[in-house]
Amino acid sequence: MKKILALVLALTLALAFAACGVMDEPAPEPEENQEATVEEQSEEPGDEEVIDSEDEAEGNTDEEEPAEEEQVKENLVDPSEITPRGDEPPAGDDKSIKGIPDLIDVLTYDDGDLLVLVNKYHGVVSDYEPEDMITMDNSLTTWENIKLKKEAYDAYMEMYEDAKKEGYDLKVCSGYRSYDGQQQLFTNAINSYSPEFAHMYSAYPGRSEHHTGLAIDITSASMGWGLRQDFADYPDGQWLDEHCQDYGFILRYTKDGEEITGYMYEPWHFRYVGKEVAEEIMEKGITLEEYLGKE
Ligand SMILES: [Zn+2]
Repeated sequence: MKKILALVLALTLALAFAACGVMDEPAPEPEENQEATVEEQSEEPGDEEVIDSEDEAEGNTDEEEPAEEEQVKENLVDPSEITPRGDEPPAGDDKSIKGIPDLIDVLTYDDGDLLVLVNKYHGVVSDYEPEDMITMDNSLTTWENIKLKKEAYDAYMEMYEDAKKEGYDLKVCSGYRSYDGQQQLFTNAINSYSPEFAHMYSAYPGRSEHHTGLAIDITSASMGWGLRQDFADYPDGQWLDEHCQDYGFILRYTKDGEEITGYMYEPWHFRYVGKEVAEEIMEKGITLEEYLGKE
């Protein structure tokens, strides 16, 4: 019964969030036969572990019926009204509800710093936008006009080409995200699910690593262009895990690092830090927080 419930939740999540988008742009049409692909994927083992997270909690209200859209608007909740840090989570829940934590600092951001830390405690000024972004060709992405900081883009393209030689068909489904874009995702996560869900699976505006233009979400044809934790069981997901550091990327939200990063395991989310640091972090199996000695 538990498995069935999990599967239903998984399917719901997959249908609602499967294709991650950049919400500060008009939501493009989903990939062709996306729904069919999701259904096919649901037959595969491990699918009950489907979880879309940090960045992927993005309700696509464009696809909802008008009546549901009205409902969503009526239920709009200001994220600042969510239970503040330190309050006891409701009974029966777990670490998923802790409220928006206080910021340790808000970075004015050194544009050249590849090791900038952005997480639940370290924010970015709301109007920050990397100067040197590249808009990716739509053939490389599941959504239109995805941008990355140039260094991350160049590194990704190198990795993409090498993955292609290995027979892996990769696409990027999220890159740079503005403050407003993240605000929309977070609010959508609250409206579509709950504040609890939003805290666990979506970043607060101004505290998403995607704001730096150095974070990238990668999916593949074998995943039906969706984002799921069982990406780690697929050859292309494994290849990325094993080789990302060769191109300067780290797997940012690891299974062992959930308590440190505050986010669930995300085998699809990679962060560009440069080759030298990436090699050290991946070899040691640590988080960026641990590497930097910061919370
Ligand atoms: Zn991400």
